Amino acid sequence: MGIVAPSSPLPGVSAGPLVPANSAARSMVEGYDPKIHDKFFESVNMELGERGFLTASLDDVITWARTGSLMWMTFGLACCAVEMIQMSMPRFDVERFGMAPRGSPRHSDLMIVAGTLTNKMAPAIRKVYDQMPDPRYVVSMGSCANGGGYYHYSYSVVRGCDRVVPVDVYVPGCPPTAEALLYGLLQLQKKIRRTGTIDR
Ligand code: SF4
Repeated sequence: MGIVAPSSPLPGVSAGPLVPANSAARSMVEGYDPKIHDKFFESVNMELGERGFLTASLDDVITWARTGSLMWMTFGLACCAVEMIQMSMPRFDVERFGMAPRGSPRHSDLMIVAGTLTNKMAPAIRKVYDQMPDPRYVVSMGSCANGGGYYHYSYSVVRGCDRVVPVDVYVPGCPPTAEALLYGLLQLQKKIRRTGTIDR
């Protein structure tokens, strides 16, 4: 098995764990799974290990800061909200990705629409969205928020929150599990990294 040891930035200082040379060998190292690990972080890790410093464009630094501080507005509308709350509890601990709940839209970057959006609630969700500063993102959580779900033919339910606010990521399920929502948020981070510019 080929193993590449990243050169240390300082003589006598360890440069961190050994990195296997190919992906098959890497998957044999405990804790490394190429299907899960993000290529972005892998390249950052390699560059840091080889040179001891990073060079990046201002766009990349701003995008990195954005993805690492997605403060989310709690917009729990129905049963899905329980899974959203679960995601922020210690078992899943979304704060390790730099995401923490906020009680005010003016301090929020992300709105998670978790539950059934009714016609009566629609103006309120739009008002909250309008109060969020740019750049702002929306995650639609669960069948109800995605398209009305179980209540699609109800007289009082909006058939998808994307009729009221622009949605970046849809998380399917009734309800989606906390893991599914977390996966959706990681997809949002990837989307921001892929498309992010200073002007959104
Ligand atoms: S998608 Fe299912 S769990 Fe979520 S709010 Fe609708 S009915 Fe409740």
